[in-house]
Parts: sequence; C-alpha cells; structure tokens
Amino acid sequence: AELINQIAAGEVIERPSSVVKELVENSLDAGATRIEVDIELGGQRLIRIRDDGGGIEPDDLPLAVASHATSKIRSFDDLEHVASMGFRGEALASVSSVARFALTSRARGQDTAFRIEVDGGKLQAARPAQHPQGTSVEVRDLFYNVPARRKFLRAERTEFAHIDDLLKSLALARGAVEFRLSHNGKPVRILKAAKDEQAALLRVAEVLGEEFPAQSLRIDHAAAGLHLSGWVGLPTASRSQADSQYFYVNGRLVRDRIVAHAVRQAYADVLFHGRHPAFVLYLELDPAGVDVNVHPAKHEVRFREQRLVHDFLFRTLHEVLAQTRA
Ligand code: ADP
Ligand code: MG
Repeated sequence: AELINQIAAGEVIERPSSVVKELVENSLDAGATRIEVDIELGGQRLIRIRDDGGGIEPDDLPLAVASHATSKIRSFDDLEHVASMGFRGEALASVSSVARFALTSRARGQDTAFRIEVDGGKLQAARPAQHPQGTSVEVRDLFYNVPARRKFLRAERTEFAHIDDLLKSLALARGAVEFRLSHNGKPVRILKAAKDEQAALLRVAEVLGEEFPAQSLRIDHAAAGLHLSGWVGLPTASRSQADSQYFYVNGRLVRDRIVAHAVRQAYADVLFHGRHPAFVLYLELDPAGVDVNVHPAKHEVRFREQRLVHDFLFRTLHEVLAQTRA
C-alpha cells in the first residue's frame, strides 16, 4: 500500500483531471470519433469515459490493466525513475490501483462486449456485457484507498474546472472528434466535430468565448518546413486572457519559452503592451525537428533549430498583426 501511495503521489495521477487525460488520450489513440466524459463530484465519485474507437479484443482485456505494472514497479527501487518514464503503458494499471475500476469494451468485428473490474487492485474475471463498438471506462471513488492523496483533492468545482480546462485543450487539438462533458448529470459542453474551417472557428468560440472570432485574425503560413495556422486574438484593454492561450506543436499542447518569447515580441512590437491576448495556434513541423519528451507532464518541448522556429513565429505573427495598424 505504501508503494501505491508513493506512485499515486507521483506526477501521473495527481488528481481527477490526470485520470481524464490518460483515459481520453487512450480513446484518441483508439481512433474514437466521439468521446463522452461524465463526471460526478468533481471526479472524486465518478469519472466515466465512453468512446466509439476500435475497442479491445477479449483476450487483451486483462493485459490492458496489467497488474504486471505492480511487478514492474517492484523491480524499480527508484520511484523517480518510474515517474520520469511517464508511466508509459502503465496508466490503466495505475488508475485501477487507486480507485474502483471497470472497463467494458467491444472490439471492432466482435459481436459481444466484455467487462472487467478491478477492485482493491484485484482483477475480476471478464464477463459478457452490453456495449456498442468502443470502450467505456469507469473510475469510481478515486483515491478511496489512498487517504493521503484524497486529502489533497480540492473543492469539487476546482477539480471539475481542471477537467474542463483539460478537455478544452484536447478538443482544440482534435477538431475532428466530438467531445461531450457532463457534471453531476448536467451537460456542460458539447463540442461537435468540425469538418471545415468555419466549423473549426465556431468550436474555438465555444471554448474561448463567443466574442473571440470577431476579435481575432486568421493565420495560415508555411515556410522552411514550418507551418503555422490558427487564430490570434486582439487583446482587449480590459482583461488579461492568459488562460486562453493555446499553442500546439504537432497536435500537442506546449508551454515553451521560445514560443512564448516569439509571440510576446510580435504583439509588443506591433500593437500592445502589457496585455495577454487569447490565441489558438498550431505549429506543424517534421517530428525529427522537435523533441516532445523533454518532460511529459510539463508540456515542454525542445526544438532542434530554436532560432529558426523563433524567427518564423515572430515574422509570421508580426506580419498578420501589422495588418491591424494599416
Ligand atoms: P498506454 O496507453 O501507454 O499503452 P494504458 O495503460 O493507458 O497504456 O493502456 C493500456 C492499453 O490498453 C493500451 O495500450 C491499449 O491497448 C488499451 N486501451 C486502453 N484504453 C483503450 C481504449 N479506450 N480503446 C482501446 N484500447 C484501449
Ligand atoms: Mg495510455
């Protein structure tokens, strides 16, 4: 139990939103086009994710939550080492060791679904169940067996806000996927799949606020193997929008020094001082040109050619923002 405490205290399952992140990423990996997230009590009572992805073959179900995790982890005496590996392949095993866990799945091409449950770390035998193609995961009573962790949970609305923020950032990254989020049985967010640019902007407006499209400029520019697209907001004098800044590198949300500097310079140089504008920007480049594994939990990246990326971002943003001066 102590080991579990320590692991749960690690960076991967810090709070309900960490669970949602792992589960939704699994759904996206499974090719889901629709992901439903139902939350109760800020995620402490229930986190349920349903997807229409490829599902899991019956024989693979026990592997998905492989408590080999436990055996693997036992062989590492250094827990920091485990954390630094980001628990790859260990998310479900970790989650199921700190909650009452159930997974129901029907694989593509199968006519029966199966359900497995893990309670107190013990895997129950798979049973036939009703489920359309895809996977549902239920995580109840998070940290029920890790009091030390449970104590650190914040108020229900704070934990839910973390989940909502996470879902917003994932939804902006994956415009072709429909996301639904509910809290205590009430729908909070319905983000329909966006099939064209106009629909994509509407979806951005759902996340950043209805006024965003009217106060933003479209960007779409490629050069030197780099492609930047998205929307930059024009700062309003009244308020900072630092919480509405989304920058994706190859589909992954990042918070990067080089990026932040280039964006800040471009704004400061053309128009504004001291304000934090809203923006949603997507940078695409050859994956070989960027290392995204600098720190899996901190959204950091390292560009191979920092100068090139910085100058490309600065010039592209500068040019678009300068239009507002004309
Ligand atoms: P990882 O995602 O790093 O492989 P996880 O513990 O998150 O590790 O998941 C273990 C495995 O369970 C995945 O590799 C995948 O095969 C399967 N899996 C988990 N969630 C889903 C899902 N929603 N749909 C299909 N397969 C899933
Ligand atoms: Mg995973």
